[in-house]
This record gives sequence, C-alpha cells and structure tokens, in this order.
Amino acid sequence: MKAKPSSRAPIVINGVSIAPGERQSLEIRVAQLYTQTPLSIPVQVLHGRREGPVLLVCAAIHGDELNGVEIIRRLLSMSSIRRLRGTLIAVPIVNVFGFIQQTRYLPDRRDLNRCFPGSEKGSLGARMAHLFKKEIIDKVSHIIDLHTGAIHRSNLPQVRACLDHPVTEQMARAFGVPVILNAALRDGSLRSIAEAAEIPVITYEAGEALRFDELSIQAGVRGVMSVMRELGMLSKTRRLHREHVPVIAKTSSWVRAEVDGVMRPLVALGSRVRKGDHLAIISDPFGMREQPVTSPYNGIVIGRVNIPLVNEGEALFHIARFQEIEEAEKGVQKFTAGMLQDPDGELNSFD
Ligand SMILES: [Zn+2]
Repeated sequence: MKAKPSSRAPIVINGVSIAPGERQSLEIRVAQLYTQTPLSIPVQVLHGRREGPVLLVCAAIHGDELNGVEIIRRLLSMSSIRRLRGTLIAVPIVNVFGFIQQTRYLPDRRDLNRCFPGSEKGSLGARMAHLFKKEIIDKVSHIIDLHTGAIHRSNLPQVRACLDHPVTEQMARAFGVPVILNAALRDGSLRSIAEAAEIPVITYEAGEALRFDELSIQAGVRGVMSVMRELGMLSKTRRLHREHVPVIAKTSSWVRAEVDGVMRPLVALGSRVRKGDHLAIISDPFGMREQPVTSPYNGIVIGRVNIPLVNEGEALFHIARFQEIEEAEKGVQKFTAGMLQDPDGELNSFD
C-alpha cells in the first residue's frame, strides 16, 4: 500500500532533521575521554507520519541501571512501533560515562539525576544535563524514565510519579505494574525539571543495578507499550485484558537496622507484612545474639537490600502502606504469577 504524504514537520534533534516516516539513529556528543576518544549519547528517533505525542523513553541516567537499556532494545524491536502516531525518542544510555565504568555516577562522582537543569558552563554533570535538556527534553511532550534499585538493592516493579497532574496519573496507571508511589520530586532530577515544564513524566523502578531481571524487563516493555496505547500512539484495537489494577501507595519508608551484624532475610520482595512481623534476623557470626528486624506497620515489601552484612542505621526493607492493602496484595500476586506463566506470549503477540 502506498503511504500518504505527511503534512507533519520534520523533527530536528542535535542538528539532524528527521522527516515524517523516518527512523534514524544519531549521537549527541557530550565530551571526550582522556584518550581524546569522543563520547556521545546514542539516540534513536522514530518520527511517525501522523501527528501525536513526542514521547521520550530513557534509561541509565544512573550508569549502572541496566534493565531499562534492555527494555528499550526490546521496545525498538516491536513491529507495531513502526506504525506509531507521533514520535518516539529512545535514549537507552543517558549517563554514558557511568555506563562505561559500570557505576551510577559521573567521573566527578556527581549524580547526573541531581544536575538538572544544568548549565552550559558548569561541571561535567551540569553540562551534560543542560545538553540533554536542550536537545531532548525541550522537544518532547511526555517522558518515561527507566530506573532500577541502587547497587545491591532490588525494587519490586513500581511506578513513581506526581499524581496531581491528570495525564501523569493516566500514564502511571496505564503502565500496569501493581504499585504506584505518589513520590515527591528530588531537586535536580529529570523528573523535577519535566514537571516544572509541565511535561507529564513517570519513573519506572524495577530490579537491581548491574543486573538484568527478566520480570522487571518484561513488565517494563509491556508498560511502555501500554502507555503508548493510552496516549494514542499505538492502536488500541489489540489492547490486552489487564488482570489487575494498580494500587496507589499511601506512604512508604525504609526499615533500618538497629544493630550491626549478619542479616538473614525472612521475607521476599512483594510480600505482604503485618505490624510486628519479623522481616529478618540480625546476628553476630556465632549466633549468640539474635535480633529480629520487625515491621513497624502493615504493608508490602517493595524494595530490599541484597547484601546480608549490615550496619546500624542501614536501610533494609522498603515498605509501602496502602489504603486497600488486600487489593495491593492481590495485584502483586497476580502480576508475578502472570509474568511467570506467560513469559513472552503477550509480547510476541504484538508482532
Ligand atoms: Zn536510578
């Protein structure tokens, strides 16, 4: 079938003009290594023929958070995105320095996600943030920012967003993971400047740094596709039946170690816990002193530390509280079971 000519204007990213119907990879030069080797942020743009949102999907703004890199690779392999309405800008590795070094940070130990909006003449982080804002963020209408837990910490797949904005809430719900955190903004984060510019933005947090977690990746690919359908970028005709409804957490907080020692966890990610339940035991190496870690309230474990060696004050378990705890628990169970039973059936159905 012959495609109709498009009246849509080309999109220009980093001086490269991409015509409607074109898919193009480009590089945004950020700096160079000491060896003089230039370093660039890789970007792929799919500029649809038909008008629609301009969605940024980005990952590894923390250089060691890898699930999002794989989510974007799988997303870009989906045949259905070739017929998208609007524009998809995919940036799988934002913090290219950290990615090479397998670390969260920039070479000067700054956190790129605390450097926004940045400045042209500031530190390396400020310059990268400024460039990324100017070339990408200023040109998009919606953002999905993909993260994982920090190093040696795992997150249950969850969406964080400021739910005061109705479109943001719509995107958060459409993503379809069981838990949504109405999370406060952190100064200097991509999410804070996007919010300030009234660009709806959600953050997906799942799995652990420096690891691929299959469940988190699958849920992420489904989530992005589902948001694209919700925004009208992809056809809704093949919309799949969603078995669970995401539940918004009331609050969440970390339970910290009260003593130093070796920890034996007793609860898994996604477990429902009640006030007073033992989450773990911390002991000395001889097992002479055993101290339980108790849950201060009813909730669901949405994050945990993976190293069993703990110091007093260390954050061990992230527990979210819910108004509708039963619903949240059911949602988590269905979500986990559904993903495991049908590891790729739904994803393949798009092709
Ligand atoms: Zn992160």
